[in-house]
Amino acid sequence: MVAGLDDAALWAQDHADARGNQGDIMTRTVYVNGDYLPEDQATVSIFDRGFLMADGVYEVVSVLDGKLLDFEGHLVRLKRSLNELAMDNPLSDDDYLAAFRGLVERNALADGLVYLQVTRGNPGDRDFAYPAAGTRPTVVMFTQAKPGLADNPAAQTGWRVISIEDQRWSRRDIKTVQLLYPSMAKMEAKAQGVDDAWMVEDGVVTEGTSNNAYIVRNGAIVTRALSNDILHGITRAAVLRFAAEAQMQVEERSFTIAEAQAADEAFITSASAFVMPVVEIDGAAIGTGQVGPVARRLREIYLEESRKAAI
Ligand code: PMP
Repeated sequence: MVAGLDDAALWAQDHADARGNQGDIMTRTVYVNGDYLPEDQATVSIFDRGFLMADGVYEVVSVLDGKLLDFEGHLVRLKRSLNELAMDNPLSDDDYLAAFRGLVERNALADGLVYLQVTRGNPGDRDFAYPAAGTRPTVVMFTQAKPGLADNPAAQTGWRVISIEDQRWSRRDIKTVQLLYPSMAKMEAKAQGVDDAWMVEDGVVTEGTSNNAYIVRNGAIVTRALSNDILHGITRAAVLRFAAEAQMQVEERSFTIAEAQAADEAFITSASAFVMPVVEIDGAAIGTGQVGPVARRLREIYLEESRKAAI
């Protein structure tokens, strides 16, 4: 208990932290099925299949200086996820963009992210079978402020990770909201006092709890090839493109934890962490144990190029 703070004040403080320190100053405006509402008035049915069945997909788009990063890539992946699950796409590309921009503007968001979730909607009851055609998908969007997102001090020191068995389902290429196992893995990492977990299947790394995993060996960037085993990261695609443009060698292949521990560098990519160096795996320092030049350079290039192309 912090001296001098009563329960209500502590709650407000917790709440504010979860929202990027804005919670006690302003109420967020969120988006639900075409409406912009104060967050405490936004509701979704208890029969929504997103809630009952994790029957929904999502995207997270970063915002820097009020502009959306890699928006088109995220939209393409959203539509692919919907298609793989035979779910209707309720909005046009222009509608999505207008809503993302509408939220950034209404929340005066400078740095942070916009979260989008589309579920198969509310069929009015619970049933394993998909609802009849015509059930409207639920569309929810909200912002999270993250002041100084691009200047995350962790990028200077790097993350420490543990390895953990990958116990997720086998369609990890679809960005569904069934995130319980990655949450459990994140909690295991926290319990061990580190930043994240790299998941391992059949002896090789799949990906991090919410990011793609890379090592650097003899100047080559190594990352697992795309398949149904991993999410096709939008940041991954951009970083590999920038790496190729900078004449860096890229090998898309699997690697073990032992190979990663013996690598010169390691890092992860995701829409919200950008390029984040990894300096330790299962207690073993990678290379010098400091942030390496390749990860540092790729982070710089990614931020520079993404800011230039942001909309
Ligand atoms: N893998 C997993 C499992 C993820 O959850 C994420 C982040 N959504 C990523 C990779 C990185 O994808 P992106 O670069 O598109 O954020």
